[in-house]
Amino acid sequence: MRSSYCGVLDSTFIDKEVTLCGWVDRRRDHGGVIFIDLRDREGVVQVVFDPDAKEDFERADKVRSEYVLQVTGKVRARAPETVNKNMPTGEIEVYGTALKILNVAETPPFPLDEHQSVGEDVRLRYRYLDLRRSEMQRILRLRSRVTTAVRNYLHNQGFIDIETPILTRATPEGARDYLVPSRTHAGKFFALPQSPQLFKQLLMVSGFDRYYQIAKCFRDEDLRADRQPEFTQIDIETSFLDENQIMAINEDMIRHLFAEIKGVQFGDFPRITYAEAMAKYGSDKPDLRIPLELVDVKDLMTEVEFKVFSGPAKDPKGRVTVMKVPGGNDKLTRKQIDDYTKFVSIYGAKGLAYIKVNDLSDLENGLQSPIVKFLPTEVRKAILERVEAENGDLLFFGADKAKIVSEALGALRNKLGEDLDLYTCEWAPLWVVDFPMFEEDDDGSLSALHHPFTAPSCSAEELRANPPAALSRAYDLVLNGTELGGGSVRIHDQKMQQAVFDVLSISAEEQREKFGFLLDALKYGAPPHGGLAFGLDRLIMWMTGAHSIRDVIAFPKTQTAADLMTDAPGGVDPEQLRELHIRTRLEEKPKD
Ligand code: ASP
Repeated sequence: MRSSYCGVLDSTFIDKEVTLCGWVDRRRDHGGVIFIDLRDREGVVQVVFDPDAKEDFERADKVRSEYVLQVTGKVRARAPETVNKNMPTGEIEVYGTALKILNVAETPPFPLDEHQSVGEDVRLRYRYLDLRRSEMQRILRLRSRVTTAVRNYLHNQGFIDIETPILTRATPEGARDYLVPSRTHAGKFFALPQSPQLFKQLLMVSGFDRYYQIAKCFRDEDLRADRQPEFTQIDIETSFLDENQIMAINEDMIRHLFAEIKGVQFGDFPRITYAEAMAKYGSDKPDLRIPLELVDVKDLMTEVEFKVFSGPAKDPKGRVTVMKVPGGNDKLTRKQIDDYTKFVSIYGAKGLAYIKVNDLSDLENGLQSPIVKFLPTEVRKAILERVEAENGDLLFFGADKAKIVSEALGALRNKLGEDLDLYTCEWAPLWVVDFPMFEEDDDGSLSALHHPFTAPSCSAEELRANPPAALSRAYDLVLNGTELGGGSVRIHDQKMQQAVFDVLSISAEEQREKFGFLLDALKYGAPPHGGLAFGLDRLIMWMTGAHSIRDVIAFPKTQTAADLMTDAPGGVDPEQLRELHIRTRLEEKPKD
């Protein structure tokens, strides 16, 4: 139907006849001449109709925005004064000689060039129109380039693309499962995969050696801004490689992707341990673009009378730390400090103590702070020395259970980085390694920090003897403060797997019932193996600069996990439920 895309035309086409197909971006009537900006996926070109071609002119007069047209015409240079430098095709135009209306369109519910002022709900309801916008086209096409580059890279490294089931059993990745009732097995349910974790490990037992898949994963979690219930992972597993080799391949892939797609050259990714990340940045996914660090002062605070500090200082699970904002005195007003106090309360912090360092030479009057009067002079001095304070600096304090302090000041660090634009570079990738195997839940029980198939760095005996001290052979790839990917060397020894299940208090029956197939597989010659998975959506967010994860997915869900366009989830008729052996118990609406 066409000889060329609209958006690719340029002066090399001058005097050529072209046939174009596309949508009417804009139509203007200029004193008897009609201009149509015709749009297709490659861009927009101006087509001109004058009354010489009477019938076509009349048809051109009738078209409206988003009509679908086929246009034939001759490419010609624009007059110098009408050249549009902002338009890739702006040096030429097409002198239209034939116009066919392939389809009409109602007036769209929102102007396609003004999405900023359009509510996201409307965009999502009419997603097929929203996706016509050049910005969305750009993002989804970049996404396609990335997946193609990933496939090429991994294929060249000997990885084999293997699909794993969507209707399956639960995989423990720490989220709630999406369940699918079985019609043929009354009362039983499939779970949608939270990840292909167990299948990819089994593929290693089968000897494929290097597996990858661009895999859909499903997690029924309360959604945060950068989460979707259904999302995509670049999922990878390898055999006979240790963690350093696995990290090296994946680091190289990410480096390769950024070079190819963004033209950005990354150096070697630094590695830091989990312990160091928490100590210095209060986060296991630190944003290393921000030059702020936490400095612990617990040892200085045990004897002060101020209970807010001495309490956590004496508590083995407590943490007392300082974050210095160089020059922060001038940068932050009292009001902003109050706002940050509210901000850290989201993370459970009861307050946000601070000291403004006005004059270091005067420890009595040179420090401005509501709390400084509670600190003896020698403690003030020791703190200032430890954080290497200078006049004009602002010190924020965190004192509470370590978890709260790290989360609160870790989040404050990111917030200050953004608010004060403290970034020292554009990209800061790094590996975080040596994670603990387990984390303690509020009730004192242990759960796997990654997943229970992660290999510990110690023996099964050591693991059983002191589970909280055990470190894992896991690694996370962090970019600009977000976790881009994570994985581990896996347990390939059945006894070790048993030990981990035991520490997690998974009973023998439950182990059999949930993971019997894995424990069996480990008995039949499972090779040492390991891998990782990258969050593709987040990767695309970084590469495109999109602000929302919904902007990098063609048909996303809302924050309440609904699809506004298809109106899913939807009701089903009672007959279908009966076939599935299901009766719903809708809660009565609470009376107001
Ligand atoms: N299955 C893990 C996840 O989804 C990644 C991995 O360990 O390979 O987070």
